[in-house]
Amino acid sequence: MDAPLTGRVALFGGSFNPPHLGHLALAEAARDEAGLDRVLWMPAAVPPHKQEADLPDGPHRLAMTRLAAEDNVAFVVSDLELQRAGVSYTVDTLRALNAAHPEAAFSLLIGGDSLAQFASWREPEEILRRADLIVYPRPGADMAAVDPALRRRVILLDRPLLDVSSTAVRDLLRGGRSARYLVPDRVLAYAAEHGLYR
Ligand code: ATP
Repeated sequence: MDAPLTGRVALFGGSFNPPHLGHLALAEAARDEAGLDRVLWMPAAVPPHKQEADLPDGPHRLAMTRLAAEDNVAFVVSDLELQRAGVSYTVDTLRALNAAHPEAAFSLLIGGDSLAQFASWREPEEILRRADLIVYPRPGADMAAVDPALRRRVILLDRPLLDVSSTAVRDLLRGGRSARYLVPDRVLAYAAEHGLYR
């Protein structure tokens, strides 16, 4: 990502451990429904809300994210959080993106489970000043439990629920099962080649 971004850009952060079809469907749905020019995929160095003892090295997650995103011209993958290292706070990332891309209008793309936790993120009000929230519903995430004042401020995508998670994919692969069609073939090939999730 060399040239400054312009237009409507959604920041899409995650562990991407590994990226799966849920991530792809939600990024594309947001692009389509919210009229985005770009979806900026951002693998976290250390996700704030997760204790993943076996989080693969950043370069592996970055490579898998690039493979997952490569055939959509609106998708861009950034290593900003991996370069920054340490716990990856979204508010820090948005500050850096606003400074580097003053012509771009940012949104933040999250799943319904992340919305349910949003109040516990670092500086949620500052995030909302810098970005609109675009939310893809997620099975098990109770939208009714979200503070109504927050719910009024989000764009909730009306799309099919997709009951797939990186956890379920890792469990399948560790059990020697196939995750084909839940994860792009190129990502599965990369994981196999590098002995991830065995
Ligand atoms: P894990 O199972 O390891 O916790 P995950 O599948 O939730 O991982 P992340 O990389 O943590 O994947 O997710 C990045 C973002 O994508 C989060 O905002 C999450 O809510 C959202 N997301 C992931 N999968 C889905 C899904 N199936 N439906 C809706 N949102 C999703």
